[in-house]
Amino acid sequence: MTEPDCLFCRIAAGKLDADIVFQNDAVVAFRDINAQAPTHVLIIPRKHVATINDLDSADAPIVGALFLAAQDIAEAAGISDVGYRVVMNCNEGAGQSVFHIHLHMLGGRKLGWPPG
Ligand code: 5GP
Ligand code: ZN
Repeated sequence: MTEPDCLFCRIAAGKLDADIVFQNDAVVAFRDINAQAPTHVLIIPRKHVATINDLDSADAPIVGALFLAAQDIAEAAGISDVGYRVVMNCNEGAGQSVFHIHLHMLGGRKLGWPPG
């Protein structure tokens, strides 16, 4: 299920260019165009889901696939042990600007906590 007007659906379908670092049947991962860390990758499901609030129980394997992709990407980037962060914003108040769920994966520098 894709939305023709959705930026990330278009990237997943190969209709828009992106620096893809990982993909499988369930997810696509590509470098954020406005990177906030040396490694800043967005991991998205191929299925269009607008926000976390729109997930249903049948989507549980998709959510798991996002985290398993993060694990692979961290390993390939050599940051598994030093550490990295995954975060997903839900709705404008939390900073969501693209309404196709995406797991931010950040690493390669010291990350502060709490986030802003
Ligand atoms: P959000 O603010 O929704 O949590 O995250 C959206 C992210 O998508 C932002 O970090 C932004 O830099 C990134 N982004 C927006 N448009 C594009 C694009 O066309 N290509 C890529 N690679 N990243 C994008
Ligand atoms: Zn989409």
